[in-house]
Amino acid sequence: MSARTAIEIAAAVRSGERSALEVVDESLGAIDTANPGLNAFLVITADEARAVAESVDAQVAAGEDPGPLAGVPIALKDNLVTRGVATSCASRILAGWVPPYDATVVQRLRAAGAISVGKTNLDEFAMGSSTENSAFGPTRNPHDPERVPGGSSGGSAAAVASGMVPLALGSDTGGSIRQPASLCGVVGVKSTYGTVSRLGLVAYGSSLDQIGPFATTVADAALLLEVIGGHDPGDSTSLNLPAPDVSAHLDDGVDGLRIGVISELMGEGIAPEVAARVRAAAEVMAAAGATVEEVSIPSISASLSAYYMVATAEASSNLSRYDGVRYGNRVEAANVTDMMTATRTQGFGDEVKRRIMLGTYALSAGYYDAFYATAQKVRTKLRADFDAVYGNHDLLLCPTSPTPAWRLGEKTDDPLTMYLSDICTIPANLAGHPAASIPFGTDGAGLPIGAQLLGPTLGEATMFRAAAVLEHSAREDVANDSHNGGRK
Ligand code: GLN
Repeated sequence: MSARTAIEIAAAVRSGERSALEVVDESLGAIDTANPGLNAFLVITADEARAVAESVDAQVAAGEDPGPLAGVPIALKDNLVTRGVATSCASRILAGWVPPYDATVVQRLRAAGAISVGKTNLDEFAMGSSTENSAFGPTRNPHDPERVPGGSSGGSAAAVASGMVPLALGSDTGGSIRQPASLCGVVGVKSTYGTVSRLGLVAYGSSLDQIGPFATTVADAALLLEVIGGHDPGDSTSLNLPAPDVSAHLDDGVDGLRIGVISELMGEGIAPEVAARVRAAAEVMAAAGATVEEVSIPSISASLSAYYMVATAEASSNLSRYDGVRYGNRVEAANVTDMMTATRTQGFGDEVKRRIMLGTYALSAGYYDAFYATAQKVRTKLRADFDAVYGNHDLLLCPTSPTPAWRLGEKTDDPLTMYLSDICTIPANLAGHPAASIPFGTDGAGLPIGAQLLGPTLGEATMFRAAAVLEHSAREDVANDSHNGGRK
């Protein structure tokens, strides 16, 4: 059987045991087979990928090391700009736009020997929780094609979960990496705000946005974070630090760690099967030597409202640049104002328009204090609440998503219900803290459930230690299940 994880693939390519071209062809073959049913990719860059693979193979042949991700196929969320490759953010307003430069993360991937095979589907401009807000049709969940993959990075999650690629990048403003990772049964990580450069990430909510990894294993996610992370002078919010050092600590265990289970995210609104899996995760931590207790973060109850003020306010400003002049498509009209109106009316989908209107309203004179300023106060209070809890806890644990994957169309007519699905992921974005979703079993119907680990600022190494413990336990459960012929 051929190597499956990124670490295994890179080892085989670096040693000359497998060619990068063979690995890339295998990934492109899997995409040919699975993508028509899932719609995970908006753009497939087969020719470019093969050309890069040949250069990686040439490096190996010349005795050079192509890097830690040598020959590893990767999928990029289509809000990461790629030189010469169309980047649409799943919006008609940018359809066909070809960026003139590569995002910093894209440059770092290439320098590490990774090979991009294409751009993945998302909710338009990353606004959504199901990938149904894409202008180019929804992505489907590989575990059940009648269900959503989560969002907004649903294409990246589905691409990894279906085995089309071992790695993908997403962006996480309010949960868009962790929530689809949870719904698709893969690992998804948002690191501390500022640890990964946002240069070349099309901005949604700039004070919240972070790029991060999707992978099938915790170790692969750790390696990918190390490759993309670290200071970038091109992003003024980039921390002046090297990438988080996580891989070296994966086997350190959780003995002696103090872990809090967030009580506000274990009751009302959380599906019983999800809460049960998180409690099982807490038991695993306790059995591995951690002290586990319930903790309270009262301001979590206000964080969803605060997020939908801050994120929409920033979005209304960020999206003003799509005016028919500077980027993408233009709808011609008699004068400039009509042209801009027609371009934006036709170019943006309903949810994007809703966000722009909400954000503009929240920032407008007379409402600014009531909405935007209040939301910022909630954000400050939430940080203070987290700080208090992290004063005597190393990590926190809660669900990633209140429910497993729902059916396509189930929430599209009710934006508020859709927003509520972000309740567990949003706090880490508002606080700027690291958080990860780790697959931790399934519901009765076999749909994946993720457990979410949260850490304080720059707590990545500790968070990954706990992630590795959960992963190990989940693997043992699957192995025991298959020994019992699938019986629970
Ligand atoms: N679902 C959230 C939103 O719609 C989060 C999206 C994201 O993280 N990009 O804003």
